[in-house]
Amino acid sequence: MKRLLWGVAILATGIFLFSRLFARESYSNVIAPLPTGMDPNFMMIVNDCFMPTAKAVGYDLRITAEFRSFAEQKAIYDQGRTENGDIVSEAPPGHSLHNYGYAVDVADETAGYRLDWQKLVAIGAYCGLESGGDGDLPHFEYRGGLSTDQFLAGMRPPPLVLPCPLMAEKAKAGQPLTLADLKTCKAPKF
Ligand SMILES: [Zn+2]
Repeated sequence: MKRLLWGVAILATGIFLFSRLFARESYSNVIAPLPTGMDPNFMMIVNDCFMPTAKAVGYDLRITAEFRSFAEQKAIYDQGRTENGDIVSEAPPGHSLHNYGYAVDVADETAGYRLDWQKLVAIGAYCGLESGGDGDLPHFEYRGGLSTDQFLAGMRPPPLVLPCPLMAEKAKAGQPLTLADLKTCKAPKF
């Protein structure tokens, strides 16, 4: 009897997971239009807060990756799996925020990836961005509490607001952000 119950439970779980798989497919193909570029609000935060604050603190960041289409994501996901080469991504198409224009990867112009990433994680958090964590330090994204499946289903987080109005003025004037500006902004010490 116990064995039968286990069998039923396992079968039910199997059917549920199988149906989820197809629900996901129909979401990505039918309901949500496929994104075609970076989200403008996300890029405003990167350009007017994240990069200038990092620069004021001594990091000359450049963006090494931004928007990636589902097709491009598939190509890098397939590498090392169904295509030759080393595995470079753990995210199948639709499972990276790069696919929605809500993620960038960064490196320093001269130091490359030899950076104090904890400082950059703190700067990112100040601007509203989340770090990719230990496994993906150059990656910064904004998901605003949404899961990747919710992005896939067509949901998007509310727009971010600059932590300090002075940043918008500086960006508009094409002027760099200074440490004094950050002090005026009451930013934490990075
Ligand atoms: Zn990334």
